[in-house]
Amino acid sequence: MSATTYRAVEVTKPGEFSLANKPLRDPGPGQVRIRVEACGVCHSDAATVDGLFPIEWPRVPGHEVVGKIDALGSGVQGWTLGQRVGVGFLAGSCGYCEFCRNGDLVNCKNQEYTGIHHDGGYAEAMIAKASGLISVPDDLTSVAAAPLLCAGLTTFSALRNAGAKVGDLIAVLGIGGLGHLGVQYARHMGFNVAAIARGADKGELAKKLGAHHYIDSAATDPVAALQALGGAQVILVTASSGKVVSQTFKGLRPNGVAVVVGIGPEAIEVSSMDLIFGNRKLEGALTGDPATGDATLRFSALSGVSAIIETAPLEKAPEAYAKMIAGKARFRMVLTMDR
Ligand SMILES: [Zn+2]
Ligand SMILES: [Zn+2]
Repeated sequence: MSATTYRAVEVTKPGEFSLANKPLRDPGPGQVRIRVEACGVCHSDAATVDGLFPIEWPRVPGHEVVGKIDALGSGVQGWTLGQRVGVGFLAGSCGYCEFCRNGDLVNCKNQEYTGIHHDGGYAEAMIAKASGLISVPDDLTSVAAAPLLCAGLTTFSALRNAGAKVGDLIAVLGIGGLGHLGVQYARHMGFNVAAIARGADKGELAKKLGAHHYIDSAATDPVAALQALGGAQVILVTASSGKVVSQTFKGLRPNGVAVVVGIGPEAIEVSSMDLIFGNRKLEGALTGDPATGDATLRFSALSGVSAIIETAPLEKAPEAYAKMIAGKARFRMVLTMDR
């Protein structure tokens, strides 16, 4: 990074990455400029790389961004130069739409998505909307905080809002980038935790992450296994296969809820019988608001919940992304900006 330019890895057209030197811009009204220190590589970056949204090319992906504020736009209040902040998928609420005025910042009508509607964090610098910023506690490193801004916030917020009480049985479906955090949060929130994945080999990891029970869905019927434990109050669905959800849904106890946080191409089929008999619910949860982001990072620092991370330097972003998409990352890739 020079005084006038910064390096970024941008997508020039679907599937094509390129390392670029971009001119440093001043933040506009209500925005800050961040000197990026770390950026997580998330599965949803595929929305940018594959061009799933209408995107103006080139576009810099990345929505698990941590760095220090190095310029403040006009009208920004509550944030200071040099402060370490995070930016997640939701880029910041408008404050005036119907949903904002009702306190629902996640569903703000004018919400932009980081790395999709504007450039994200695969870069040494980025411009961010102040209303979307998350504060990073001193006792978390930037690398450790990065994956918590999307994968962490998503699982933490979903578990926190699912209505379960301490001691209730929570099932975490899938132990990948999201699930390995979900298991830890559920454990530290005081739940009885069952992790569900395919294969006996994941059992040891599940226990290490804090699961009280491990259900190998390749060898056991997860519905029977969950019902033997009394039925799950919540199933946190981090696996992207719709079929797996359909095969697990009846493991919910009456009034239980399956909360879907992992995106996949398959439809989730649930029979009306299984919904009605037992008053079960199936719902989705889109990351969380910035205050819940603050809480995610604070709770992670207090409890020691942390993502298992592999780092790569910025210029290796295409390789890091490829590894993540191939399902070979253990468990979150984080780009570092060495200067
Ligand atoms: Zn709004
Ligand atoms: Zn994400």
